[in-house]
Amino acid sequence: MFEELVGKSCRLCPRECGADRSIHRGLCKTGNTLKIASFNIHHGEEPPISGKRGSGTIFFVGCNMSCIYCQNYPISQLVKPKREVSIEELANIMIRLQKRGAHNINLVTPSHFVHLIVESIEIARNRGLTIPIVYNTSSYDKEEVVLTLKEYVDVYLADLKYVDGELSKKLSGVENYFEVASRALLAMYKTKGKLTLEGGIARKGLIVRHLVLPNALENTRKALEWIKYNLDGATVSVMFQYFPAYKALNHPSIGRKVNLDEYLYVCELIDKLELNGFIQQI
Ligand code: SF4
Repeated sequence: MFEELVGKSCRLCPRECGADRSIHRGLCKTGNTLKIASFNIHHGEEPPISGKRGSGTIFFVGCNMSCIYCQNYPISQLVKPKREVSIEELANIMIRLQKRGAHNINLVTPSHFVHLIVESIEIARNRGLTIPIVYNTSSYDKEEVVLTLKEYVDVYLADLKYVDGELSKKLSGVENYFEVASRALLAMYKTKGKLTLEGGIARKGLIVRHLVLPNALENTRKALEWIKYNLDGATVSVMFQYFPAYKALNHPSIGRKVNLDEYLYVCELIDKLELNGFIQQI
């Protein structure tokens, strides 16, 4: 399936930009070779992902969205620093992270490289990789791709950023974000189900993340309500740590952090909807 989607005119992700990635870069700013910014043991994810020993995080360069506030913009938008790795080398990195004690392999922004990453996962598993694969995504993923990942991915750490199309267009350059992400999230939940833990660590399932933005409470309310009524019982992670970065510095609506009133409003909403999961503090 991936060969057909990427081919000479890439349609791997919902951008469907048609790039011949063997010759030039697509809207995700990458071609057909794997590029990573770094890999390491990371302790800052949700408790069932980081655990005590940390998550084996691999940061991929590029992104199929263009968020003007991206905190990883040097990697996602400016595509540096970068290191080219082969499929084999990526498999070796996964094995190295497992040997260093990582609870899982955490693929950060993998969507535009997924056709290559699955090959690395296969090689790594044949060489003894047993820890779960975490797919850490904006959820701007095609439903058909998510369904194909059933055998490769164990845990989804997946955003629901926007419900409002105008906002997603203005802040991330994609108007159909909700239409795409809602279908992808439903497919993730259908294939992996509720979060299952072993010794307090995620073994399989879905964690839905939502980053609260300043001056966007209506978007947050709609996002949390959609999660409640469409992914009933899913684990939710609501994040308040937004700070203006990249093109959001001095931006009229998102040029500041979330304030206390916004924080309290969202906390009340979480209680009212009886959502289960995590709140990353203001
Ligand atoms: S993965 Fe990249 S090249 Fe392929 S359709 Fe998406 S943006 Fe275009």
